Amino acid sequence: LGVDPLTQRIKEKEKEWKYKIAVLSGKGGVGKSTVAVNLATALAKQGYFVGILDADVHGPNVAKMLGVEKADVLAEKFEDGHFEMMPPMNDFSGQTTPIKVMSMGFMVPEDQPIVWRGPLVTKAIKQLLGDVKWGSLDFMIVDFPPGTGDQILTVTQTIQLDAAIIVTTPQEVALLDTGKAVNMMKQMNVPYIGVIENMSYLICPHCGNKIDIFGEGGGEKLAKKEGVDFLGKIPIDLKAREASDKGIPIVLYEDTPAAKAFMEISQKLL
Ligand code: ADP
Repeated sequence: LGVDPLTQRIKEKEKEWKYKIAVLSGKGGVGKSTVAVNLATALAKQGYFVGILDADVHGPNVAKMLGVEKADVLAEKFEDGHFEMMPPMNDFSGQTTPIKVMSMGFMVPEDQPIVWRGPLVTKAIKQLLGDVKWGSLDFMIVDFPPGTGDQILTVTQTIQLDAAIIVTTPQEVALLDTGKAVNMMKQMNVPYIGVIENMSYLICPHCGNKIDIFGEGGGEKLAKKEGVDFLGKIPIDLKAREASDKGIPIVLYEDTPAAKAFMEISQKLL
């Protein structure tokens, strides 16, 4: 039985992507997209060629966080009738290699909620992989939708992930869902699984002391319990919101605690 042409195209393209990394979370709002965008930018800052696919079709904001949400997406028609899109890019005035970005957000007006059901979401994600001229990349980073839905399973069956990064906050409730996300990646036999704890602590802007707002060590404990790597902690950074509103990832604000944390974690991925 032959595979469909789209899956075939994905198979061909993924040969050009050295490392394929998924970023997941048990639930929304833990900073999954922030982590995906900043790791992508941290790697691009070190000279690697990076593509980032915003597969979080229900809340696509990767393009905005990378300052390309208003970009025009050009498409090229191929002889067999299928179209491929050119991913918009940003190099932050030469601070990074050009980061290629593709998102459902380009296809749908900003104020329009996407109410598609699972199979359509899966199809959309597969098109963003297979119908985009990604070219050769050192890192393909996929920002998955939150949770452990079918779409994630289908995409994980389609591309051979090298690593999964699970983002959590230190709160207990988030951790329960996080365990499920870790287990899903284990079941999918993803070779490397790492946990990042986001919004772990606050560095007081006045005295420089570290404040553990939500308790301490949750992410690390979880990683230990599940037998996966703990990649590190990202502090709550008061500049993170401002940065993402401006379309400049916090990791490019070099003097911030979050930037240092993202750079350190990105180096563990090399
Ligand atoms: P998710 O993708 O998990 O839904 P987002 O990455 O969109 O979460 O982040 C949710 C909100 O939290 C955003 O407004 C983002 O700017 C903010 N945020 C994420 N991480 C941090 C952080 N380390 N410090 C401060 N704000 C953060």
